[in-house]
Amino acid sequence: MTKILNIYEKIENIVGTKYITDSEPTCYSYSMNCDTVLQGIPDIVVRPSNAKEVSEILKIANNEGIKIIPRGGGADLTGGAKPIGDGGVVIDLTRMNSILDIDEKNLIVTVEAGISWSELCDQLSKVGIGYYTGTTGPASGFSATIGGGLSNNSVGGGGAAMYGAVTEQCVGLEVALPTGELIYTGARANSFCDKQFTRFGLGPDYSGLFLGDVGINGIKTKASFNLYPIPEYAAGNTFEIRNIPESKEYEIATTLMMKWQHSQVPIHDFYYYTRNYAAYLKGVRLVKGWTDKKVKGSVIFYTTVANTQKELDDRVERIEKMAKEMQIRELGPSVEEGNLAKWFYDENGRWQWAHIYWGLVGADTTSCGTCLKCRTSQLPKYVELYADFNAKNSKKLLSLGNASADFIVFGVHPHYLDVTGGLSFTTNRDNREIQENLWKDLLTMQIKELGAVHYWMGEIIGRSLVDSGALSGEYYNFMLAIKKTLDPNGILSPGKFYLTDHY
Ligand SMILES: Cc1cc2nc3c(=O)[nH]c(=O)nc-3n(C[C@H](O)[C@H](O)[C@H](O)COP(=O)(O)OP(=O)(O)OC[C@H]3O[C@@H](n4cnc5c(N)ncnc54)[C@H](O)[C@@H]3O)c2cc1C
Repeated sequence: MTKILNIYEKIENIVGTKYITDSEPTCYSYSMNCDTVLQGIPDIVVRPSNAKEVSEILKIANNEGIKIIPRGGGADLTGGAKPIGDGGVVIDLTRMNSILDIDEKNLIVTVEAGISWSELCDQLSKVGIGYYTGTTGPASGFSATIGGGLSNNSVGGGGAAMYGAVTEQCVGLEVALPTGELIYTGARANSFCDKQFTRFGLGPDYSGLFLGDVGINGIKTKASFNLYPIPEYAAGNTFEIRNIPESKEYEIATTLMMKWQHSQVPIHDFYYYTRNYAAYLKGVRLVKGWTDKKVKGSVIFYTTVANTQKELDDRVERIEKMAKEMQIRELGPSVEEGNLAKWFYDENGRWQWAHIYWGLVGADTTSCGTCLKCRTSQLPKYVELYADFNAKNSKKLLSLGNASADFIVFGVHPHYLDVTGGLSFTTNRDNREIQENLWKDLLTMQIKELGAVHYWMGEIIGRSLVDSGALSGEYYNFMLAIKKTLDPNGILSPGKFYLTDHY
């Protein structure tokens, strides 16, 4: 207790009384994010305003041996942004939310890591000719921050088929190392270079050490990204695959997605909604024109962009020729006829394609996410795996409100897929343990049977990877050696990758 009082005063002197608290309700609320992984309650929550303050807090934490957990928007789904076990200090980075530089000449934007994706996209769209970051963060971008997206290797908010995960568009970072030193990675590692523009050069890609690290290797305080002018012309279309057995629907969808990827025609986004998911959206009457009669099977849609109408027409013609060769049915050109792709551009603001879906699930539902990267040709195998999992666990799933493992799929640059999904349950404290066991079983099946490549490690996915023996001893030791070098006192998010009890 003395230790905590001691650190409280020291941090208070750095950030000011208003931005630190140990109040029980606040600390309790910071023991949660969007998932139900049972984790600890911090002793202190602090909201620094700049990188120097973050650096000083880390130095104090090292001296006092107190654990630190960085947090952005808290929209993590795998237990990332909360302590493992009670205690420690959560650093909420959302006060660090400025756009620091928009370099229109060289098309680079530099921001503080606590700004949300939605704020960044909105601000960029109003500058000059209107810009965006190509891939526009995760689908939780209305609360998720740049720092969270980079730490989780996020992808899914829009633009993924053309621009990949957000980490692919990142050209450099400012990072507070666990021991408190502030460093630049990328071009600015040369202290005579005044602007970021590439991650590569000056030696290995050290930004990579902090991308997808769930914050265990350092706290990202600034990040720079490529900028792209918002394309003037955009179009998209929506197709239904039906009147065939469900397994055939997946085969057709997989073949079409591979054709699209091999063709090299620029597709901004494409999504595949399983029969189940399409039925769900129909049930909640969210998508215009998706009546019971009109949509019975699974749905696939694409969007594309161009700089001239001629270029757009040419792209649309080539993309749709491939779709029509697969004998699948166009729902109709207008939003009212069910053209979800057109809705994406006309009514949803071109980015954050999924934001209107999230309100649907309600406060009593929790998502046990198992999102992963998948080789496109491997998709039918994942379909079988989900079916096996649901069959094997049918009784338990029934007892949990008729739950089932489900997913949707989207294309990621240059040519793989993201299988987004997992299990959704009605939240109930009494059955948390059974939910968590089912979640871990699904993750373990994905890891062991199909060599799954998950990308938000958080708590539960890190644990499942280590427990299933997926990481070779040599690789595990390599990760541990890096972590020990960067964080000799093991104070930054200890336990997230199960790198021994202490790290
Ligand atoms: C409705 C919904 C939809 C989602 N859709 C997607 C999706 O499409 N794609 C996707 O990838 N994810 C998705 N997610 C998961 C999650 O929201 C994202 O991964 C998101 O990027 C997390 O950002 P955040 O700012 O909320 O991070 P947090 O939840 O605050 O933190 C996430 C992790 O990053 C660490 N961290 C945060 N900021 C920093 C920093 N500055 N420096 C170092 N470490 C840091 C935390 O310690 C934690 O381990 C979704 C979640 C929800 C609830």
